[in-house]
Amino acid sequence: MRVILIGPPGAGKGTQATRLAEKHNVPSISTGDLFRARTKDKNDPLGQQIKAIMDAGQLVPNEITVKMISERLDQPDCKNGFILDGFPRSVEQAESLDKMLKEKGIKLDGVIQIGVDDDKLVERISGRFSCGKCGEGYHDKFKKPADPHQCNKCGAKEDPKDPEASIWKRRSDDNEETVRGRLHTYHTQTAPILPYYDAKGVLKVVDGMAAMDDVTRQIEDVLDPKQGAKTLAPPKKFG
Ligand code: AMP
Repeated sequence: MRVILIGPPGAGKGTQATRLAEKHNVPSISTGDLFRARTKDKNDPLGQQIKAIMDAGQLVPNEITVKMISERLDQPDCKNGFILDGFPRSVEQAESLDKMLKEKGIKLDGVIQIGVDDDKLVERISGRFSCGKCGEGYHDKFKKPADPHQCNKCGAKEDPKDPEASIWKRRSDDNEETVRGRLHTYHTQTAPILPYYDAKGVLKVVDGMAAMDDVTRQIEDVLDPKQGAKTLAPPKKFG
């Protein structure tokens, strides 16, 4: 299973990539996660340069991104496949990926666009947070933890009297201003890869505004129409 998920920030790429990866026993590779890991060390100049770019909602330069992905795809856990979440994000990256896959003798099974309405995205993204221990995702409005001081999934608990010790994490680029910048970057730089893949006949569109489980079913269906749900609505047009 070798699949690319494409969609604006907040489309649910991460959630769907994790689900697909678990089901097919392949790694889900998020360039955003790889970059965030790199920004943790305050003494790493490249990491701090990447953090500044991410906080501005811009794209990390291609030389860094393409090399990082190429090295990641060479890891043994990618032997049976991978789900790419957040890469490629420009036509130049898509061309580099084509070249890289050809050199590695790898063929893609599908490119999936998770379509969403822009207006809903800012609300969706700016309410996101996750458990600092297990990474389970939550939302201020749509998916609150049952107990505001405890993670539903791993049970990690915080002391309500000590906000410094919060178990919850929010991404520094999930604030409204940066989200608008990230959306602008998506429309100007990433969206042009949709016609690029459409022209190759590999692009499939699913409706990312549907409930999470529905989106998963739609993805299964477009990847393998024999196995997936049979109740697919015709694909909508997303910008
Ligand atoms: P994400 O977690 O996918 O929303 O990505 C967060 C940020 O990481 C983006 O806003 C970019 O600054 C950077 N980033 C992630 N993927 C890429 C990529 N393929 N090319 C360049 N920058 C990226």
